[in-house]
Amino acid sequence: MNTPTRFLADAALSGLARWLRLLGFDTVCVQEKAGRPLMRQAAGEDRILLTRRRDLLERQFSGRLLLLPDTAVAKQLSFVLGKLSLEIEARNLYTLCLSCNQKMISLERRNVRDLVPEYVFEHCAEYTQCPECRKIFWPGTHRRNALRFLKDNGILVSGAEGL
Ligand SMILES: [Zn+2]
Repeated sequence: MNTPTRFLADAALSGLARWLRLLGFDTVCVQEKAGRPLMRQAAGEDRILLTRRRDLLERQFSGRLLLLPDTAVAKQLSFVLGKLSLEIEARNLYTLCLSCNQKMISLERRNVRDLVPEYVFEHCAEYTQCPECRKIFWPGTHRRNALRFLKDNGILVSGAEGL
C-alpha cells in the first residue's frame, strides 16, 4: 500500500492548503519565509513541497517540489491533482480540520445537543470535532457547496454520487 500523499505549503498557498485538507490530504502550511527550513521540513516529514517560489527550484533538494502557477485556487488544485495523478474519494472529504490539519474525531449525536444549532441537531446524525480547535462539523450545505465547486472545476470525486 502506498503511503498517503502529504504536503507542505508555503504561506502564499494557504487557500490551496485548505482545499487539500478538505479533500483529506494532510497539508501543513508554514509562515516561514526562508527557503531552506521549508525544504528541510518537507524532506524530513516526507511531504511534497508546494510553493510559488521559483528560486527554490534552483536549490539542491532531495525531496519533491511542485512549483504552483499564479492562478485561482481551483486551478492550483487541479494542477496538483493532475501532476500527481491523485484520486479524490468522497469518504475522505472533511476528515481533516480545514484550519488545524488535525484528524477529525467522531462525536455521538447525544453529545452535541447543546453545541450545534437546534435545526442541525434535528436533521443530522453524524458529527465530527477537531481535537485542537474543538470546531464541530456536520454534513450540510458547505459540503454540498464544496462538491459543486469541485464539479464545476472539473475535479472528479469518486463515490460522491449519493451525496
Ligand atoms: Zn481545528
